[in-house]
Amino acid sequence: MKTIGLIGGMSWESTVPYYRLINETVRSTLGGLHSAKLMLISVNFHEIEMLQHAGNWTAAGEAMAGAAQALHAGGADFIVLCTNTMHKVAHQITAATPLPLLHIVDSTADALAQAGVTRVGLLGTRFTMEQDFYRERLSTRGFEVITPDEDGRDNIHRIIYDELCQGVIRDESRAIYRQIMSSMSGAGAQGIILGCTEISLLVDQSDATVPLFDTTALHAQAAALLSIAGELQKC
Ligand code: GLU
Repeated sequence: MKTIGLIGGMSWESTVPYYRLINETVRSTLGGLHSAKLMLISVNFHEIEMLQHAGNWTAAGEAMAGAAQALHAGGADFIVLCTNTMHKVAHQITAATPLPLLHIVDSTADALAQAGVTRVGLLGTRFTMEQDFYRERLSTRGFEVITPDEDGRDNIHRIIYDELCQGVIRDESRAIYRQIMSSMSGAGAQGIILGCTEISLLVDQSDATVPLFDTTALHAQAAALLSIAGELQKC
């Protein structure tokens, strides 16, 4: 079994489900008392969020690179970055160690392809919805990506940072997400990517009329399956 190196804490509200989902996948696949081998470096999200909103991605990337080096030194076999947004600095993470990075877009794209979705809605932070690092990786895999309008993106972003990352779950905010997801399916989205690891704390499949692709669950499951790939071959 390989050891998973998690970089978490962005926010810790969504790192908790990662730990549970990885272990649930290992147990349901291997059975009995099997559980995941993993290491977690958890950052202070306050420091990272300040750098994000100041546009200082180089410094944010250096913090991620330092975390990856600590995981490498500790014996991790591959890196899992438990946030969509910080994949903006994936290049700094992969340059910092010889370890592979299990990219969250790739785990999500595999599920979209399997479901036969080609036109997909994307919800996430403004950085994820508006910048190239995320959308381009999806486009390269052949997906057409649509995002909410300016007001919608503002609301989605605000609710992530002001509420979900702080453990605040409000019915009013769920209603906003429901309304935005409904407009996206009206605009032809065949599925919607919950492209921020906290969104599944607020909404689930019952809130949408098209399939939801929860990046937290898809990424955690992919990490677990990668870590036990060797064990499965032995079965
Ligand atoms: N966890 C979030 C994401 O998946 C937002 C927090 C962050 O900026 O890292 O993008």
